[in-house]
Amino acid sequence: MKKNYLLIIMLIIFLFTCVACDREINKKDDDYIENESLKIYTTFYPMYYIAGEISQEKADIVQMIPAGVEPHTWEPTLKTMAELKNSNMFIYNGAGMERWAEKIIDNLRGNNVKIVETSKGVDLIKSEGNNHDDYDPHTWVSPENLKIQAKNVLDALIEIDKINEEYYKENYRILAAKLDKLHEDIKKASKQFKIKTIITSHEAFGYFAKEYGLVQIPIRGMSPEQEPSPAKLAEIVDLCLENNIKYIFTEKFVNPKFSNIIADEIGGDVLTLNAAHGLSDDEIKEGQDYITVMYDNLNSLEKALK
Ligand SMILES: [Zn+2]
Repeated sequence: MKKNYLLIIMLIIFLFTCVACDREINKKDDDYIENESLKIYTTFYPMYYIAGEISQEKADIVQMIPAGVEPHTWEPTLKTMAELKNSNMFIYNGAGMERWAEKIIDNLRGNNVKIVETSKGVDLIKSEGNNHDDYDPHTWVSPENLKIQAKNVLDALIEIDKINEEYYKENYRILAAKLDKLHEDIKKASKQFKIKTIITSHEAFGYFAKEYGLVQIPIRGMSPEQEPSPAKLAEIVDLCLENNIKYIFTEKFVNPKFSNIIADEIGGDVLTLNAAHGLSDDEIKEGQDYITVMYDNLNSLEKALK
């Protein structure tokens, strides 16, 4: 009898040890999954911004096109392409913004990289420039569009990382609420604008203008590298004089030469309107982001159009 008791006790001890041991292994597995973050490549700042807001600490995010570099004509190096193939996700704007991205997508398929064209589902507008078949790629400049683009990122994240679904959804809700508030604030303010025309540095505010009942007259075309003809400049000067326009918009990273020429001609001034193609590291360190840039824009618009 005593022998049997001893055997049972030993058996119990053995079982407990095994369960504990098993738990230890499982715990290590969980920790491993938690610590391994996703590697996400994004093309330029607004894509980097929405990816970061939704994934937070669950992902390492690379912004491929650095701040201050002209995003309309940038192309990746072979080294960047090789790194991209080893990532979990590639997020781009689309709608013709990153022509190079459209070329490399076929190359990326089969490498297990989730490809996200964020402008999918956005109501695209046609370019008013020379290429009539092309769409205006500046979808993100309208906060309501950026919300659609962020939703596409959310759906893609859930698809590849289902475990963190609720986490991503909550982060998306916070971002969507910020974008909705921004949209409402701009909508309310724009109702007070007496002047409805904005003279922009390049054709980046089409979606913004459409959303808030404004007319955009771009000095340059879709890409800031195009130069306006003297006739075009004269035409804009006349339009400003006829419509009592006193402020010409310029933007960071684009030569303000032509904005200055027009402002001089009309005896007006130059203000900044930032289409958020890029934010410098310093600006990000200072706490600036897409939302603060758009509120700065609203300040400029109120000064120019009220
Ligand atoms: Zn642009």
